[in-house]
Amino acid sequence: MRRDFHRHPELGFNETRTAAIVADALMQLGMEVQRGVGQTGVVGLLEGAKEGPTVLLRFDMDALPIQEESNAPYVSQNSGVMHACGHDAHTAMGLSLAKMMTKYQSQLAGRLKFVFQPAEEGLGGAFAMIADGVLANPKPDVAFAMHVWNPTPLGQVRVVEGPCMASSSVFTLTIQGQGGHGAAPHLATDPILAAAHIVAALQSIVSRNINPQDSVVVSIGQFSAGTTFNVIPDKAELKGTVRSYNEALHRKIYRRILEMATEMAKAFNCTATMETVAIVQEVRNAAAPTLLVKEAAAKMVGAENILDHRTMASEDMGFILDEIPGCYFFIGSSNEEKGLTRPHHHPSFDIDERAMVNGMAIMAETAASYLIN
Ligand SMILES: [Zn+2]
Ligand SMILES: [Zn+2]
Repeated sequence: MRRDFHRHPELGFNETRTAAIVADALMQLGMEVQRGVGQTGVVGLLEGAKEGPTVLLRFDMDALPIQEESNAPYVSQNSGVMHACGHDAHTAMGLSLAKMMTKYQSQLAGRLKFVFQPAEEGLGGAFAMIADGVLANPKPDVAFAMHVWNPTPLGQVRVVEGPCMASSSVFTLTIQGQGGHGAAPHLATDPILAAAHIVAALQSIVSRNINPQDSVVVSIGQFSAGTTFNVIPDKAELKGTVRSYNEALHRKIYRRILEMATEMAKAFNCTATMETVAIVQEVRNAAAPTLLVKEAAAKMVGAENILDHRTMASEDMGFILDEIPGCYFFIGSSNEEKGLTRPHHHPSFDIDERAMVNGMAIMAETAASYLIN
């Protein structure tokens, strides 16, 4: 299943093929299935034989706009789109777990809410599903999600109580100059030069304005300007992201970005404007569910292979865990011997698929601790 999803990756809110496979599979298991939750999301409800809590298990389905570089037989057939984060594995794990837990239906006291989420990669899929009521009717008592994780080798699990993934936001800076001939720069106002200085200057925020003991990231990921070699364009656009574990810090950083961009642009006779979009808040793990995940993980990989983890990556599971207590954990999935060590979002990213077994076992065991007495 994972390889089939890998061959046919789909971008956020376009997961129509994936969602149809998921919904059909859940229907075949006899679940009550809702399609089109948050556009392309799917929810399956597995009702136990007795009354009890509602446990939400969340799996993301979207791929990334990356051209895959791989010799694997399951290389992406969708040009320019790739499962470079491992959400193909998550979807496959979710369906396999659904199948597995259905076998225990008569023993379940409570219900499992299988949530297959679109558009995790910065597009607000969790938010769209929440807006469509995924956290109601029935309201979950506890929520879990996991990520295959290549920074960690196969056989290890990373999970920590409290904050584990950073809050993340996107900003766009538009630097307006005045276009002209490349051979007559003195008659134009070059926004590329101003933008280049802004990119360099923004890197001083983390090093000069933030307490070195705080974790903060400011990254520019997109610099767009110009159409050809001999034309000075009239504007340049920069897109970047800010990560932190602290809202006040986030605001401070944005104040500095705006100050620097506007003043630096002014120094080059340009103007700068900024737009920000808050995407996700930090992911916080609640104490009791985290302890259960650790106990389940210890049975699977041994207590010595469970490590703490905090990352500056972000996750829209934060929206769900803001309303429902739960735990988000990481399943080690790299394998140096097999050369499966590329980081997430790399064009040659791939995982050791045995990680999926670990992830499923831990999630099944954790869910069972709520639903099977
Ligand atoms: Zn990702
Ligand atoms: Zn991911």
